[in-house]
Amino acid sequence: MISLKNINKYYSTGNHELHVLKDVNLEIGSGELVSIMGSSGSGKSTLLNILGILDAYDSGSYHLDNTLIKSLSEKKAAQYRNEFIGFIFQSFHLLGYKNAMENVALPLYYRGISRKKRNIIAREYLDKVGLLDWAEHMPNELSGGQQQRVSIARALISEPKLILADEPTGALDSQTSENVMNLFREVNKLGITVLIVTHEHDIANMTDRQITLIDGKIHETSHV
Ligand code: ADP
Ligand code: MG
Repeated sequence: MISLKNINKYYSTGNHELHVLKDVNLEIGSGELVSIMGSSGSGKSTLLNILGILDAYDSGSYHLDNTLIKSLSEKKAAQYRNEFIGFIFQSFHLLGYKNAMENVALPLYYRGISRKKRNIIAREYLDKVGLLDWAEHMPNELSGGQQQRVSIARALISEPKLILADEPTGALDSQTSENVMNLFREVNKLGITVLIVTHEHDIANMTDRQITLIDGKIHETSHV
């Protein structure tokens, strides 16, 4: 599903260049549940953004589902993102003026599906994450854990092959984090590849494979 070969990434800030990813090699198979650990500044988000085709790399190669992801037009990049990838963020990224159902339905709006139809489908996905009763509620009426489940439902509605989550439990207490991780495990059991960036060992321990980034290098991987 994911194949990275000798990926390097630099940021230039003013007159000096920051080497953020250093010859990263990584193979992730279809259906894996993987965590990427590492301290703040180690390059986790940079790596995830490259995998999510939100950012470009400077050298090496990235193949997603056997397609070389390099120098894509913005249109082509958006097409691959929509087709393959669901994103989950620490801060949920829900629209505050839309209720839970409308937030979940949003990806279908961009696919030109009618309001009636997309709301029916959105309710099905809210049901899958245990929030059907909350469909008409606004994000500020939901707890952090509920908001993250809404954002997971919104990611799933596009039927992605790959879920990329950047610190998805970073804003949640430990019990809620465990519930959200259990939801990711269920999602993974459906056959969806799930990649979770975290700096918490408890979270990483709930995945099947742990990758550690230290100063832009892949340091170790451990399989369960
Ligand atoms: P992590 O997610 O592991 O905390 P990041 O990938 O966000 O790490 O950042 C890795 C390094 O790259 C950090 O030193 C950060 O300051 C730097 N960095 C991240 N994004 C940019 C950017 N857009 N421009 C310049 N430097 C950046
Ligand atoms: Mg980060």
